[in-house]
Amino acid sequence: MYQQSKHNIFSKIKDSNEYYLVNILSGNADILEPDEALKFKENRIDNPDIYIEKGYLVNPDDEERIFREKYLNFIDERDSDEIQLFFTPWYTCNFNCSYCFQDEYTNPEQTVTDEVIDAFFQYIDNQFAGRKKYITIFGGEPFLNTPKHKQTITKVIEGANIRKLDIAVVTNGYHITDYISILQQASVREIQVTLDGTQTVHDSRRILKGGQGSFQKISDGINALLKNNIPVNLRMVVDKDNIHDLPNLAKYAINQGWTKNTLFKTALGRNYELHHCQTNNKRLFSRIGLYQEVYNLVKKHPEILEFHKPAFSIAKFIFENGELPNPLFDSCSGTKTEWAFDYAGKIYSCTATVGNTGDELGTFYPQTKLNSKLIEEWEERDVLAIKKCRNCSVQLACGGGCAAIAKARTGNIHSEDCRPVKELLELGIGLYK
Ligand code: SF4
Ligand code: SF4
Repeated sequence: MYQQSKHNIFSKIKDSNEYYLVNILSGNADILEPDEALKFKENRIDNPDIYIEKGYLVNPDDEERIFREKYLNFIDERDSDEIQLFFTPWYTCNFNCSYCFQDEYTNPEQTVTDEVIDAFFQYIDNQFAGRKKYITIFGGEPFLNTPKHKQTITKVIEGANIRKLDIAVVTNGYHITDYISILQQASVREIQVTLDGTQTVHDSRRILKGGQGSFQKISDGINALLKNNIPVNLRMVVDKDNIHDLPNLAKYAINQGWTKNTLFKTALGRNYELHHCQTNNKRLFSRIGLYQEVYNLVKKHPEILEFHKPAFSIAKFIFENGELPNPLFDSCSGTKTEWAFDYAGKIYSCTATVGNTGDELGTFYPQTKLNSKLIEEWEERDVLAIKKCRNCSVQLACGGGCAAIAKARTGNIHSEDCRPVKELLELGIGLYK
């Protein structure tokens, strides 16, 4: 009657004799001694009541009912979540990064007009009336240092201010100091800036179109933001060429005093192929390859954790919150709580698709036209809609992955972009335990 839950995630903890057992549907996680783990694996459990109570052993019909209930809650709650609206005023960029995923886009070097900005605000006023929302200014590079570009960013900020909306910006960081006075007019959620390492490493990857390095100006920009109480999200894009510099960047950030500032946070972004192959793709990590390397580096240089605490799927969440996160029936926010809009009046699902020919979902200028069939396909994507995900034991930690990556790989939005959840938990529980 009782059998092992299909949502159990069970494996040996890295560099330990112990095992972990996690069940996101029931909200439980335990560390098992080796003999206990063996008995569990072989279905020879001495004290089944505890396992039943924790939802590791279940009656499948009961479990299915709980799954449905939690699924409906997830959908309901998401309908009232805040929406992130990306606005791309141009695709122009002053950098020539070695791994840019937009570098083969064919968008003309044009800048948004006032008319299009007005149409954008009108569209979001109508379409997302009554929803919590904020605007993230994206590019190309949004902070270009000409009066025209500054006027345009100022107009977007004014539009946000009238509606009492926060803004965020994704920038390469080169002209931050030139934009401080403009940012002071806004309610800024965060400025996301990229540093790929300390000076030599960063300057070998993220260079100006003329070939000069950018590290020092970005570092000065981060200091200027923090001095003005503007939150910073520092992102390091990593691959095999620069991962070795993570400990050095951590030390640099600690020495600058950034890590002590509550307005400072970090993210590690994996360099990966999206719409086209990179010329030097041997340097790219697989997801698990990256986190294995990060695990080894943290063991050797624990100060990295002061700079960045990697999520390792849900491992960090469990140790920081003392409980499990809610089940993730869908990890892709595109068209649900995220939309992207560009200077040409086109609408896309998110940052991964904005500007990519063929990924348009409609227009907001010169007139509003939506491709409802395509939008529906995006909206319906979750672990129930994707065939391979339906019976996957890690579905509630993975959520089906990224729709844009899945589509680029298979041509089908309703296909899987697998996360190595079990392996990530082996590492993460090993590290944070
Ligand atoms: S398609 Fe990928 S990048 Fe876009 S919202 Fe979904 S998960 Fe994020
Ligand atoms: S994307 Fe892969 S790992 Fe994620 S839920 Fe679907 S089948 Fe499982």
